[in-house]
Amino acid sequence: MKVTIFGTGYVGLVTGTCLAEMGNHVVCVDVDAGKVERLKKGDVPIYEPGLEPMVIRNHAEGRLDFTTDAAPAIAHGDVVFIAVGTPPDEDGSADLQYVLAVANTIGDHIDRYTIVVNKSTVPVGTADRVRAAVAERLKQRGVDVPFDVVSNPEFLKEGDAVEDCMRPDRIVVGSSSERAIERLRKLYAPFNRNHDRMVVMDERSAELTKYAANAMLATKISFMNEIANIAEHVGADVELVRRGIGADPRIGYHFIYPGAGYGGSCFPKDVQALARTAHSVGYDARLLGAVEAVNDGQKSRLFALLSKHFDGNLKGRTVAVWGLAFKPNTDDMREASSRRLMEQLWDAGAQVRAFDPEASDEARRIYGERDDLVLVAHPYDALEGADALAIVTEWKAFRSPDFQRVKSLLRTPVIVDGRNLYDPAIVEEAGLAYYGIGRGRSL
Ligand code: NAD
Repeated sequence: MKVTIFGTGYVGLVTGTCLAEMGNHVVCVDVDAGKVERLKKGDVPIYEPGLEPMVIRNHAEGRLDFTTDAAPAIAHGDVVFIAVGTPPDEDGSADLQYVLAVANTIGDHIDRYTIVVNKSTVPVGTADRVRAAVAERLKQRGVDVPFDVVSNPEFLKEGDAVEDCMRPDRIVVGSSSERAIERLRKLYAPFNRNHDRMVVMDERSAELTKYAANAMLATKISFMNEIANIAEHVGADVELVRRGIGADPRIGYHFIYPGAGYGGSCFPKDVQALARTAHSVGYDARLLGAVEAVNDGQKSRLFALLSKHFDGNLKGRTVAVWGLAFKPNTDDMREASSRRLMEQLWDAGAQVRAFDPEASDEARRIYGERDDLVLVAHPYDALEGADALAIVTEWKAFRSPDFQRVKSLLRTPVIVDGRNLYDPAIVEEAGLAYYGIGRGRSL
């Protein structure tokens, strides 16, 4: 099939590449000329395991191309995906300007039956707005071109995006058009061989499904952080509690890890946007507000623990930070807990020496050159001359450190473990002070 994708970010680039891998002819459009030039040369601007070789191979074999030129790209595609960003607006609602700009462009150029598929995460009712925008442009052109709008939210996880795209848990297709549903069934057939993963519904339910999924996952995290905070106050160990509750199949072990809060480009903005949607129709989504408030508090936990350890005086101290990305296997630092920690440390007059396997360039891009941030190329280099080590992202490389080496490099031997990677007894046996999240001894 001939496919066009607007947006070459995590969602658009991965989707386009996986569709090309299955033999489709895909043209990806982006307004960022620099990104397009890099992609044409096989230089993938984001870190996503397995993606770069697939991009290079499919581009070389002529199934995957990149352009900034929307008109020929739209002429190419029978199916046109919208996969551009929907960042939070000032009031927390999703900013639809990029989605609607693409809808306008599509309306400006289509000249035969086209299926417009929205993959961006958008509030309920956006399919109607996209349909209206395309129709308005067609009217302005004085032409009558048939088209359908489908809501096809994306559930891939950064860090596992290629795997998730190739083997999705489910493919949600929201549409009232049988013709569009059948076309998408064909497009997704190669990803749908083992058993039928396609869940067909109306557009509004599909749009809400995406927000409900992210809100549920964020709720699990905030719930566990709430339990962790209670555990600290009552002298219990949340890691034991986690295992105890996870054993119940109605609860399960997935996604109940306490920590330094969730970040990333999706959970924070999607929880907020769903709350705004509810508010706009007169419903007060109290649970969502609590999920957000707990997470906000959690992002400050590491600073609070460090501050407590150093009796409220962090001025002139240096803190080693392991992990800058909002989660492992990505270079994405959007809303990352590391940012809150570093910014709080800087405000308190402390210095940061940070290591991340993939996100150092992103940190440099965000913060530029500054005296109180040193980015190092090796985890142990971060410890030299530091007063404490803070674990912020649970990269595999941090799971079994040489605690003796950590101790010998730190000026004062203390670890603040924002992801509960370590057994407190082992760390303490090595002669280091240990603070985890909800481990009954951190107050
Ligand atoms: P991103 O910010 O990584 O990429 C968006 C891209 O769209 C950018 O390259 C930008 O230049 C481009 N763009 C903006 N306006 C454009 C236009 N008019 N024409 C062409 N390109 C344009 O975003 P992302 O992380 O890929 O997310 C895209 C959408 O998918 C969002 O709504 C997001 O909520 C959703 N989503 C993201 C993830 C994720 O893990 N990142 C997962 C599921 C859903």
